[in-house]
Amino acid sequence: MSSPYSAYRPLIGGGEHDLISRLAQRLKGTETVMVNSTRDGGGVAEILHNMVPLLNELGVRTTWEVIEGRPDFFAATKTLHNALHGRPEALTPEMVKAYWEVSEMNAEKLKDRLKKNLVFIHDPQPAGLLRHLKQGDQRWIYRCHVDVSSPFPPAWEFLGPIVSEYDASVFSHPSFAQRMAMPQFLIAPSIDPLSDKNKPLPEEFIRHTLERFGLDPRRPLITQVSRFDKLKDPLGVIEAFKKAKRFHPRAQLVLAGGAASDDPESAHILPAIQEAAGKDDSIHVLDLPPFSDLEINALQRASAVVLQKSLKEGFALTVSEALWKERPVVAMAVGGIPLQVIHGKTGYLVHTVEGTAAAIRRVLDNPLEAQALAKNGREHVRQNFIITRHVRDYMSLFLCVLNPGRAVVRLAPPAA
Ligand code: UDP
Repeated sequence: MSSPYSAYRPLIGGGEHDLISRLAQRLKGTETVMVNSTRDGGGVAEILHNMVPLLNELGVRTTWEVIEGRPDFFAATKTLHNALHGRPEALTPEMVKAYWEVSEMNAEKLKDRLKKNLVFIHDPQPAGLLRHLKQGDQRWIYRCHVDVSSPFPPAWEFLGPIVSEYDASVFSHPSFAQRMAMPQFLIAPSIDPLSDKNKPLPEEFIRHTLERFGLDPRRPLITQVSRFDKLKDPLGVIEAFKKAKRFHPRAQLVLAGGAASDDPESAHILPAIQEAAGKDDSIHVLDLPPFSDLEINALQRASAVVLQKSLKEGFALTVSEALWKERPVVAMAVGGIPLQVIHGKTGYLVHTVEGTAAAIRRVLDNPLEAQALAKNGREHVRQNFIITRHVRDYMSLFLCVLNPGRAVVRLAPPAA
């Protein structure tokens, strides 16, 4: 359940709170639709679950549509996703055909529901809708959540021309921006500090959750929460844990994950993770059902170290989630992670399995130092990566896109 907007005031201060309300007033009457490819699983769905109710509460009428696809479509878009992240894997002609057939099918289904002033498309899966549905008086925004800093060239040759037809694009990190004629905006993602995923929890619930999953609350817990995906490097996590455990034999590892309905690969990866975990009873692989937010919250809060061993990463909400909970974070220096983890200030950035193992040992050997960094991490997240900042940026973006060429957009005067 979403929180009332007033509940954010103590976290962000009155000035910011009022500014956001005034931006929202300026957008009264504007209708926006968000479009992505899954309602559960992954960071985009996580954000939309929090963002859409908040925009509506602020008076910015926003709906959320999810495209449907066939297995061959999602296989194609996963190949495209991996290739945008740099894997040298090209779309076959059959994949391109599946992409456009499913785009057309969704365009037919969604054509009335996408008749809004602003159409906000998240990631490549629904990107093709624009060619079927864009009407002259609408503004279409493409929101890229992927690290496209060094794509496999054929992948961008496919997606780039589609994105170029949008009125604006949004990237999470400066290095992701591409050479395109339309305006590009840099907006980082966010977490909702008041959601079930991030709100404070009673100690009793945390302990109970650990016991439910067969974890020992007295032993140091090392956790990675991520979809089961090669790019999250679950096997690297296990390797690093095994190396660190030689020095901290009481440590226990949790790999908590699940599948996303638009990701066909996870089902194949889980058995490989289970095999790598083998008979080591200090490694716990938890295949969680969708919407296990309270359980994930509890696992993160109970962790001595939260890992994000990704090989590629758009942003990694999981990092902000852990920092918000003041947990020590060890994360790879890839994609949007360095926006959140400033090495030696808010956590530890690493580059290899060995580095990950060494950083785990450092946290377990120096808990006070790690705790001080985690405290900085929470403040860093409060200032930069919570949902109100994200809503403010999106509303500013909407105003820019709806008022092209205007340098000044007047806001309503403050309420008396
Ligand atoms: N998540 C979840 N259940 C899982 C795995 C992940 O709820 O089994 C959540 C996680 O807490 C985070 C989001 O899914 O909120 C993942 O976002 P992130 O940006 O870290 O990665 P993505 O999956 O988008 O690559």
